Amino acid sequence: DGEAGLDAFMNETFDCVLLDYHLPGKSGIETFHAMSQVPSTTAAVVFLTGEENEDLALTAMKAGVVDFLNKNELQPAMLRRAIRYAQARHNFLYELAERGRRDALTNLPNRSVFDDTLSNAIAQGNRHETMVATLLLDLDHFKDINDTLGHPAGDEMLQTIAVRLTQSTRESDTVIRLGGDEFVIIAPNIGDQGDAIQLALKIHDAMSRPVLIGDKELHISTSIGIAMAPHDGQEPAKILKSADLALYRAKGEGRGQYCFYDTSMDTAAHARQKMEQDLRLAIEQSEFELHYQPKVSVSTGIMIGAEALLRWRHPVRGFVGPDEFIPVAERNRLILPIGEWVLRTAFAQMVAWKNAALPIHNCSVNLSPVQLSEPALISVFDDIIAETGVDPSFMEVEITESALMKRVDSIVGTLNALRDRGISVSIDDFGAGYSSLVYLKQLPIDKLKIDQSFVAGIVIDNDDAEIARTVIQLGKSMGLEVIAEGVETSAQLNLLRDYGCEQIQGYYYSRALPAEAFYSWYVRQKTRRAIAFSLDAKDLAETEPLQIV
Ligand code: C2E
Ligand code: CA
Ligand code: CA
Repeated sequence: DGEAGLDAFMNETFDCVLLDYHLPGKSGIETFHAMSQVPSTTAAVVFLTGEENEDLALTAMKAGVVDFLNKNELQPAMLRRAIRYAQARHNFLYELAERGRRDALTNLPNRSVFDDTLSNAIAQGNRHETMVATLLLDLDHFKDINDTLGHPAGDEMLQTIAVRLTQSTRESDTVIRLGGDEFVIIAPNIGDQGDAIQLALKIHDAMSRPVLIGDKELHISTSIGIAMAPHDGQEPAKILKSADLALYRAKGEGRGQYCFYDTSMDTAAHARQKMEQDLRLAIEQSEFELHYQPKVSVSTGIMIGAEALLRWRHPVRGFVGPDEFIPVAERNRLILPIGEWVLRTAFAQMVAWKNAALPIHNCSVNLSPVQLSEPALISVFDDIIAETGVDPSFMEVEITESALMKRVDSIVGTLNALRDRGISVSIDDFGAGYSSLVYLKQLPIDKLKIDQSFVAGIVIDNDDAEIARTVIQLGKSMGLEVIAEGVETSAQLNLLRDYGCEQIQGYYYSRALPAEAFYSWYVRQKTRRAIAFSLDAKDLAETEPLQIV
C-alpha cells in the first residue's frame, strides 16, 4: 500500500518508482505528493493505471510524474524503456545538482556547500570532542594580476592556487572557492590552535613557490583569517563572520599573515562600522577641512610651497586624525570621493592664493594607493584643472614609497600621465620602504621626501643620520629634489643643511594651518624677515622663524 511504499522511499535511494494510481490506504496521488516533499529527491515516478484516461495523465504529468502507463496494456519492452528513461533523467538531475555545487573555473566545491559541510563537521566534532578550524583565505593584491596581465592570466593563477590548496590539505578537509580570490578551508578533527597554525604555515609554504604563467614567474601570497568551532561559534554564518574579522586583522598586518579570531575584533568591527557610517555623511555635511603646512627653502628661509593635509571635524568626537580615518576610507573606497574633494579644494585654494598675490608655486596633495589604482583618476584631475583653471605645474602628488613599491608596474602609467600634465610626483616616507635603487632610477618621479622617523633621530642616532645623508646624496645624484619633513628643532635643521638638503617641512616652521591662518603666517613671516633684514640681522630672519602653535 501507499504507506509502506512511502516508508521504503524515505529510507532508501531509488532511481525510479512505479506507482499504481489506485492504492489501498494512502492513494497513489497522495503518496506521490508526499514523495515530492522529500528534499533533493531525483527519483522518477511512473504512474500505472487500469484505464486509458488522458486528462488524468496530463494532470499527473503537470504535477511532476514522468510517465503514465496503462497496466492492462503493459509490455516488458515498454516498461524497460520507461525505467531506462527514468534512470537517464535521474543521472541528468544528479549531474546538474553536482555542477551547481562546484565552481566551474577551479572545479572546487563552491559556496553552496559551505553551510552543510561546516555544520556536519561541527556536529561530528562535538561528538568526538574535537575542534573544526575554518580558514578564510584572500590572495594579496590579486587585482594587480588581472589588471596588468589580463583575466585569462588571473584565471590560470586561481586554478594553480586551487590545486596547491588541495595538495596542502588532508583528505578530510574541504577546500571551497567562495568567489573571486577568496577560498575557505574547513578542517575537522583539530586538536588545538597549534594544528590550525600548522595548516596555515603549510598553505603559506605552498604559496611561496612562484607560479609560472606564460613565460612569467609570478609571486603571490595569501592572508588567512582563522575561526575555531565550537569556541568561536556553532553557526556557519557566525564562524564565517569571525574568520572574516580575523582576515581583516591579518591583512592589516601586511602580506602573507595569518590571524586567529578573538572577541576584541567584534568591538573593533563595530567601531569601524560606526566610523564608516559617519564618514559617509562627512562629505555631505562638510565636516572635512584642508590644512596647509609650509615647505621652506633651507638656503633662503622663504616659504616655497605647502602640503595639503586632511582634517575631519567629527560632530561628536571632535577632531579625528587622518591616520585613524583614512585606512577605513580606503577599505570602503570612500577615499575616492574624499580624495577628489581634497584635490578640488587644494587646486581651488592655489587659484585663490594666486589671486590674493600669495607667491606660492607648489602645493602637494597625498594620494592613496586606492586612488592610484582607480582608472578614472586622470580624468578627475583633468576635470578639476579645467574647473578651477589652476596651473598644473603648481601641483604635486605625494605617494608613499610602500604604496608605490607594492604595485610599481600598474602605477607607472598613471604617474606618467600626471607628469605629462605638468604635475610633479614626490615619493613620501622615503627610506622606510626598502626601494630597489634599480627601480628608483626607472620611475617617473621628481622628488624624494625623507621619512620623518629618520629626521626625528638624526641628531641622536648615527644610523638615522647616515640614512638621511645617503637619501639626500642619492636624490641629488639622480637629479631629484629632496625635502625633509618632521623638522622640529634648529639642530635638526642645521644638520640637514650640512648634508645639502634644500627643502624643509615641520613644526620648526609651522604645523599645518587652515588656509586663512596659513596666509597670515606667510605675511607675518615676510614682515618679520623684512624687519630683520633692514636691521641687518640676517641670522634672526633665518634661524628664528615665527613659531605658530
Ligand atoms: P604624511 O603625508 O607623512 O604627512 C605628514 C604628517 O606629519 C602630518 O600628519 C603632519 O601634520 C605631520 N607633521 C608635520 N610636521 C611635523 C613635525 O615637525 N613633527 C611631527 N611629529 N609631525 C609632523 P597628519 O596631518 O596627521 O597626517 C598623517 C597622514 O595622513 C599623512 O602622513 C598622510 O599619509 C595621511 N593624509 C593626510 N591627509 C591626506 C589626504 O588628503 N589624502 C590621503 N590619502 N592621505 C592623507
Ligand atoms: Ca605626505
Ligand atoms: Ca610623510
